[in-house]
Amino acid sequence: MPLLELSTMPPEALSRTTPLNAVAAGELLIHEIYLSVQGESTYAGLPCVFVRTSVCDLRCSWCDTPHAFNRGERLSRADVLAQVLAFDCPLVEVTGGEPLLQGEVYPLMAELADAGKTVLLETSGAHDIANVDPRVVIVMDLKCPDSGEEHRNHWPNLDRLKPTDEVKFVIASERDWRWAEAAIRDHRLDERFTVLVSAVFGKLAPVQLVEWLLAAKLPRVRVQVQLHKVIWEPTTRGV
Ligand code: SF4
Repeated sequence: MPLLELSTMPPEALSRTTPLNAVAAGELLIHEIYLSVQGESTYAGLPCVFVRTSVCDLRCSWCDTPHAFNRGERLSRADVLAQVLAFDCPLVEVTGGEPLLQGEVYPLMAELADAGKTVLLETSGAHDIANVDPRVVIVMDLKCPDSGEEHRNHWPNLDRLKPTDEVKFVIASERDWRWAEAAIRDHRLDERFTVLVSAVFGKLAPVQLVEWLLAAKLPRVRVQVQLHKVIWEPTTRGV
């Protein structure tokens, strides 16, 4: 499968995918594969193998994985699958970077599901999810204004998500919260999916987010903390 939507990307976003030009058919550009605990969904706290792909076409102002933008190792899909299965863990998350920029991610996720794994996909919400295997649980961001990437939200994805999928808002300010609240109400997101909201670490106190949520009376929306930043030093990688 070719890289997706390249022709529809803004020029600055297209140039960010340049490292993928060196990747051959059947390969992925992988930043790291490791065992940790899941940190940012309703699966939080469970042991989980992470497959972090390299390269992202967005540049969220608060991104905490810029180290994955350019560097990575070319691995065959079979190698990635073998490395994941070697951990013998029932939960696997494919994250990035932006996984959906790499065509081999789609069959990889299907093969992981074939192997009996519960597969989570974390995606920015900027790319069409139509070709994602229906067995995959999608955790999809909707980018708020302070991310600087609100214009990249691919809204038709909301009609492709399943009831078992999760929509996540990362909130940096009151403006972001007001935007998220309006999106939740306008699209009835809390009636259709699990909805998660979390505060940008170091920018917004989680207690403030809790106060806004309680005042909004949205009883199905969940506040989350970034578990990894509570357990480990916030700058620790590979956890
Ligand atoms: S989509 Fe994710 S990886 Fe890409 S810039 Fe935003 S936070 Fe970083």
